Amino acid sequence: MRTITLIQGDGIGPEITEAVVKVIDAAGCDIDWDLQTAGADVIEKEGTPLPERVLDSVRKNGAALKSPVTTPIGKGFRSVNVALRKELDLYANLRPCCNIPSVKTRYDNVDIVVVRENTEDLYAGVEEKIDDNTAHSIKIITRQASERIAEFAFEYALKNNRKQVSAVTKANICKLSDGLFLDAARSVAEKYPQIQYREILVDNCCMQLVQNPCQFDVLLLPNLYGDIVSDLTAGLIGGLGVAQGANIGKNCAVFEPVHGSAPDIAGQNKANPTAIILSAVEMLNYIGETKKGLIIKNALFNTFRQGICTADLGGTYSCTAFTDAVIKNLQE
Ligand code: ATP
Repeated sequence: MRTITLIQGDGIGPEITEAVVKVIDAAGCDIDWDLQTAGADVIEKEGTPLPERVLDSVRKNGAALKSPVTTPIGKGFRSVNVALRKELDLYANLRPCCNIPSVKTRYDNVDIVVVRENTEDLYAGVEEKIDDNTAHSIKIITRQASERIAEFAFEYALKNNRKQVSAVTKANICKLSDGLFLDAARSVAEKYPQIQYREILVDNCCMQLVQNPCQFDVLLLPNLYGDIVSDLTAGLIGGLGVAQGANIGKNCAVFEPVHGSAPDIAGQNKANPTAIILSAVEMLNYIGETKKGLIIKNALFNTFRQGICTADLGGTYSCTAFTDAVIKNLQE
């Protein structure tokens, strides 16, 4: 039996957490969930949205499955998601984006993996108010973090039979910071002659992604561009409801959907649990349960092939009805 931390957030978090746990249990995975709550709901009792116990649990268990956590705006708390990644040094944010069977989108054959640096850039949170009319946000890029994420992208490409890595920056404008990121990417690329290395500016990359996404394979980006571009790539395959993600460090990893807590549909049994189920499949792969992962993925994809989907994809199924259909397919 393997113990995995289960971080239950807020908004649609509880609904999709319940769905994914039901699916994993139905697949017969031998997992003992270490349930940890975080976010707005725990502030009053514990004084912080990210109590130390959550971090300790992930450190101890080495892997976590997480649903979205909202950070209260304007109350002085650092984003739980950003803090979690920083505290656990989960330096690589991996967001695979691949068409889902029977989900109709503009393009077939989209198969892109976004590798986003997860610890610095404008997310370092170094901001200062100069006066009432001026504020500064400092963009931090270091060679060490840039090389580390580039290594991750090329190693991922090598291990997963990917052919190309594209470094995406705005180095023509942010000459020093993005220039350093690019310099680090180039030096790492030299060590991987078998992988095609390409450089593209982020604005052009967005246009090309919209016009001809199939030209891209692995995208390597600093933190902020990675956040924005991965929502774009999610849009190519059906939206945030199907976009999976993982935050990976040297000693532990947190698997979570790309989407946020979707307060507009929270508590209405409308959420699409696909993104968290696919994130859980990656988690199962990470802990060596690849067979179970594949069984769950096949059951999920067969559900889509049967024309069953939630409202975000134009379907009529609720979160629970969709989950039940996936479980039924697991048993067939
Ligand atoms: P954050 O800033 O926390 O990442 P966000 O601003 O990107 O959040 P989300 O909470 O991800 O916003 O939601 C964006 C839109 O996508 C909302 O309209 C929401 O309803 C929809 N959405 C997000 N996740 C899902 C899901 N799992 N199922 C259905 N719709 C979703």
